[in-house]
Amino acid sequence: MKTDTHETALLAGAARSNITPPLGITLDGPIGQNGPATHIHDELHARCLVLSDGSTTLGFAVCDSTMITGRVFEAAKELVAERTGIPADHLMMTATHSHSVPRAMDITDDAGFQAYLDFLAQRIADGIQRARNQLAPAQLGWTTTEKPEHLNNRRWLVKPEVLTPNPFGDSGERVRMNPPAGSDALIRPTGPVDPSVALLSVQHEDGRPLALLTNYGLHYVGGVPKGHISADYYGIFCSAVERALGQAGQDPPFVALLANGASGNVNNIDFRTKRTPRPPYAKMTEVADDLATAVLTACESIEYTRHMSLSAATRTLDLPVRRPDAQRLAWARTIMASAGGPERLSSREVFAREALFLEDYPPTLPVPLQAFALGDFALSAIPCEVFAETGLAIREASPFTGTCVMSLANAYHGYLPPPEQHELGGYETWPARSSCLATDAEADIRAGAIDLLNRLRPPG
Ligand SMILES: [Zn+2]
Repeated sequence: MKTDTHETALLAGAARSNITPPLGITLDGPIGQNGPATHIHDELHARCLVLSDGSTTLGFAVCDSTMITGRVFEAAKELVAERTGIPADHLMMTATHSHSVPRAMDITDDAGFQAYLDFLAQRIADGIQRARNQLAPAQLGWTTTEKPEHLNNRRWLVKPEVLTPNPFGDSGERVRMNPPAGSDALIRPTGPVDPSVALLSVQHEDGRPLALLTNYGLHYVGGVPKGHISADYYGIFCSAVERALGQAGQDPPFVALLANGASGNVNNIDFRTKRTPRPPYAKMTEVADDLATAVLTACESIEYTRHMSLSAATRTLDLPVRRPDAQRLAWARTIMASAGGPERLSSREVFAREALFLEDYPPTLPVPLQAFALGDFALSAIPCEVFAETGLAIREASPFTGTCVMSLANAYHGYLPPPEQHELGGYETWPARSSCLATDAEADIRAGAIDLLNRLRPPG
């Protein structure tokens, strides 16, 4: 029932914008070991959703990319603001974290790669503009379910014999990322997983599905042949949900979105048992289909409303960078003086090169945080690979009935290990462009994210 004279019925629109790069583009591999794309297994998309309550309009884009630099997101937001009037702080854009796609960062000056970054910004903006063009009377509902069985914390306390040597020669390492599965040297994982799956379901006013935004705390699954472009399990999940909820010939088409939750230390590998090799794409398909089944079941219990107030809050923290000291720089220069080409770097050489990159970083970085309220459901967006414990803590402290935490949103500032994880060492803590913020940044970001949610808390 309409209780507020200012409240208009909800409007929603959704669109999928193709962001597949041309073959030949450099792909993300293990850090520093990239190669050219030679095949497109499935197309990449920016999946976009625009919602309006009559006075506030919000736009979300979930993009098939490993990570997207703030410069690209800012360019996309500027285009959207110019073309549609939706202000930048009402726009949330995020990367899924597929690893079989280009890293949309300034990783090379190559003109073709830079042209892809421009194209990406344009296509994200196009997707939001198209979703906005299609705004139609809608109803919204949300729910959460749990799907712990695909999640494993990948940072393990291990016996010294299986520790990966610290690339800088530092002692005191106690954690190994992705330890050998089934090994007797494994002690225990160093943290939790966040099993929650959040679902925001959008229907036309007659009940036809319009869009479904899902959030899940799982890193990519992988299992892709070298040179392949693929959206990983995110794309397969969205296709499965679109087949199930969309109708043939529906115009505009139903759109599914799957955003990356608090997954910085969580992947799909069960380290307690030996791994059995699987054919390409098999494991990611299994995970995607199982998640889609759970999500479609959870959808059935959602109650919808035509009236929901929308709001947004944004805040940018200025956080210190872990730049190399003089000793680390001298070490890095010595190592790199005898290193081979970029395709053949050892782990030590990769991190030496990273130290030289970090030398050029400013002393502090702007870290944009966002929160959105959709009735009693909230969304928290953070530009890092957020660890599961941080996601759980934000959800626990949130004043909203339901809250989801999105990683890799609006910029890219690397892994965000909590201070106690920094003390344990391991890959995610080693200073690099992929782990560049100060060791206490997690506490500031967690507090900042909770503060934004409190600012949006509806009265009563
Ligand atoms: Zn990652």
